Amino acid sequence: MLPIDCCTQPALSKRRVLHDSSHASETVVQCACEAYWFHRFHEWSNFDGPDDLTTWYTRLTAAEAERLLTADKPDLGFLPTKPSIMVDANGVQRVDGQPDRTYGGT
Ligand SMILES: [Zn+2]
Repeated sequence: MLPIDCCTQPALSKRRVLHDSSHASETVVQCACEAYWFHRFHEWSNFDGPDDLTTWYTRLTAAEAERLLTADKPDLGFLPTKPSIMVDANGVQRVDGQPDRTYGGT
């Protein structure tokens, strides 16, 4: 079950992958209800225990989505101050924003 709240039965399709590696990804996705979300995934390797997996979803306006889908190098600077949904080992939380870059290289 997706933690997003644009509609009652969210179903996401990838629209543009901005970054993708084995430990991190940034993807513009669109729900079946047409809402756009920015999806970020990051895995912190932890040699002392289980890996720490974190996912963020940020709802995008149509204008924001259009920019991210068409720009050569999309500016993600607005993400840290845009209310987001974060999912990690502690569950689903509402947060004030999400990172605007991947951590620790690729
Ligand atoms: Zn939806």
